[in-house]
Amino acid sequence: MSRVYNFSAGPSTLPESVLLQAQQELLEWRGSGMSVMEMSHRGKHFAIIAEELESDLRSLLAIPDNYKVLFLQGGASAQFSLIPQNLLNGKTKACYIKTGAWSEKAVSDAQNYCEVVLTASSEAEHYSHVPEPATWLIDSDAAYLHYTSNETIHGVEFPDIPDSKGLPLVSDMSSNILSRPVDISQFGLIYAGTQKNMGPSGVTIVIVRDDLIGHAPKTTPSVFNYAEQAKNQSMLNTPATYNWYLVGLVLKWLQAQGGVAAIEQRNIAKAAKLYQAIDQSALYHNPVAIPYRSRMNVPFILADDGLDKAFISAAEAQGLYELKGHRSVGGMRASIYNAMPDAGVEALIAFMAEFERSH
Ligand code: PMP
Repeated sequence: MSRVYNFSAGPSTLPESVLLQAQQELLEWRGSGMSVMEMSHRGKHFAIIAEELESDLRSLLAIPDNYKVLFLQGGASAQFSLIPQNLLNGKTKACYIKTGAWSEKAVSDAQNYCEVVLTASSEAEHYSHVPEPATWLIDSDAAYLHYTSNETIHGVEFPDIPDSKGLPLVSDMSSNILSRPVDISQFGLIYAGTQKNMGPSGVTIVIVRDDLIGHAPKTTPSVFNYAEQAKNQSMLNTPATYNWYLVGLVLKWLQAQGGVAAIEQRNIAKAAKLYQAIDQSALYHNPVAIPYRSRMNVPFILADDGLDKAFISAAEAQGLYELKGHRSVGGMRASIYNAMPDAGVEALIAFMAEFERSH
C-alpha cells in the first residue's frame, strides 16, 4: 500500500490513525455485534456515538450552553438558503461581505430571500484581500452580517473576527473550523461542511445561538428548520450515521493532538514554511495580501502557465496529489488542513524547489 500526500481542498486527507480505527471497527463496534453503518440511529449504541460527538465538539470549541449544535445534511451549500430562511425573522435585509467564490455563492442564494446589503467586497481586486473594516457598510436594520472566514478557492482568511456592530454575526467556517481557537460567543451562527477539517463529506455542522431560532416561516421544510432539528437532536430524519461516527473519530484524534490551540501552532508553522518557499522563489507566486493569506488553502501560480501540466505530473510522480487549482482561478492550490502532516508540506516544498531548478 502506498498512501500519497493528498492536498485536495475537500474531501481531503484524513488522519491515518482514524482510517485504521474505522477499519478495525468496521465489522463490529465496541462489542455491539454490528457495524456502525448497520445501527439504528435510535438505538443505545448510536446514542453513545451521537452524545460523544456533540460533547467532544462542544469541548474542543468551548461552545457555550446557550448555543445549539446541529448535525445536518445538504452541505454548506444548503445553508446559503437556510440561513436567511431561519434567521430573517421578519426582517427584509441581510449584510454580506464578499471576499471570494464562496461568499459570492452565499450572496447569490440569499438574494432569493431578502435584500442583500453588500457590506464590503474585494471582487474588483480579484479577491486578493479583506476590505478595510473602516469602509464597511453595516445596515442596522439587517437581520445579520454574513462572512466566509476562509475562502477555500481564493485562499483568503480573516485574521480576526469582524466587528458586526451589534448584528448577529454569521460565519461560513467550512474550510477553517477547528484550525484555530474562536470565541463562539461572538457569533450568532457558525456553519461548516465536515469534509475538510472534520471528516468525510455528508455532515454539516450548525452552531447557533438559542435566541435566533424558532422564527422560520411555516414554508421552511422541517428538516431544514433549526428549531425543529434542535428539538429532535438533529434526528428529525435519519442522519448520516456512519459519517457522524467518522467525524467523532476525527474529533478524538484532534483532542489527542492537544486540541485546537495546539493544532493552530502547527498550522501556523506549516503555512509559514510554504508561503516562505513561494515568496523566495522566482517561479511561484501567491496573489493574496500577506495579512489575509489562508493557513489552510495556499494557492500559487507559476510564472509560466505552460509549465502547469508538467508541474502536476511531476508532483504526482513524487506522491504529491491534488495540487491543481480550482478551475475558476487556475494555477495550483495546496490545501494543508489539520490532518496534513508536516512531512507532507516538507515534501511539497522540496519538490517545488527541485522543479524550479530543473525548469
Ligand atoms: N463554503 C466553503 C467555504 C467551501 O469551501 C465549500 C466547499 N468547498 C462550501 C461552502 C460548499 O460546501 P458543500 O459542498 O459541502 O455544500
